[in-house]
Amino acid sequence: MGRNLPRRPDLPATARQGAVAALEEMAQGLIGADPLQLVQLRRKMDGLLNGHRYAKAAIDIAAHDLLGKHVGMRVADLLGGAVTERVPSYYASGIGEPDEIARIAEERAGEGYPRMQIKVGGGRPIEIDIAVVRKVWERVGTRMRLAVDGNRSLTMRDTLRLSRECLDIPLILEQPCNTIEEIKAIRSQLHHAVYLDENGEDLNTVLRAVGDGICDGFGMKVTRIGGLHAMATFRDICETRSMPHTCDDAWGGDIINAACTHIGATVQPRLLEGVWLAQPYVEGNYDQENGVKIEGGHIKLPTGPGLGVIPDESLFGAPVASFG
Ligand SMILES: [Mg+2]
Repeated sequence: MGRNLPRRPDLPATARQGAVAALEEMAQGLIGADPLQLVQLRRKMDGLLNGHRYAKAAIDIAAHDLLGKHVGMRVADLLGGAVTERVPSYYASGIGEPDEIARIAEERAGEGYPRMQIKVGGGRPIEIDIAVVRKVWERVGTRMRLAVDGNRSLTMRDTLRLSRECLDIPLILEQPCNTIEEIKAIRSQLHHAVYLDENGEDLNTVLRAVGDGICDGFGMKVTRIGGLHAMATFRDICETRSMPHTCDDAWGGDIINAACTHIGATVQPRLLEGVWLAQPYVEGNYDQENGVKIEGGHIKLPTGPGLGVIPDESLFGAPVASFG
């Protein structure tokens, strides 16, 4: 796994043990459900267990793959149709010193990444974060779009200062503060667009944020919102208000990488901020032939039916649970 990566405050929401417990809770009730009826399957899961969308996402993604393979269609086409075969990604930096992050930014711009997310915060003085952002901007300018991601860790005071002292830089602020209430409180004083990430927990929160004008876009993880079905609804809500967003992985292998790429390929290009995959930090592929990877800052959409990947199940190890 990756080195020098920031603390991930969203990880407890996707804790492996929590997912196993949620799947165990739903398992008996799902036996006999038709995996090809995606809406009914989602309702069934919601009836069996409230919340736990990251666990439901695993079943939702598997059902999309099954349906696609059953009818001979790619998941992107089931979700409305791919508008591109080469989906843009973005690079997320760790928290580092100005020279180091600026050097990484220059390298990634050279590789073809259209966007970079600069991680900031985590308790260090805001002056250092401001210096990082300014240095990256000096080096790469408009070669990459810039997002500054506080991962919920900045105070309102420091967010205001960062925005004020980077007034000339066309960046977006991603989830600077911990709560929607903090972001709402300072929003009118910020000089930059604000995206929600971790606070965008479910479709209801997304509706609230869009309806109340709390943000200008989203970082979104396919597992956090509950899988591909919910993600397609999210995509359509965002399109209704012309709000840009990402379609991100939450640290996995080829299956989630493919799922994120398929939904990303269906987003209007003007609204797609990119598909972030953990792939560069994860060794190996479950599918040696069709494994999903980032090349030149972009991801090739798999061509086969369903997700377009066929995992080598022997690599998964022994099942953690089985039901019948
Ligand atoms: Mg983020």
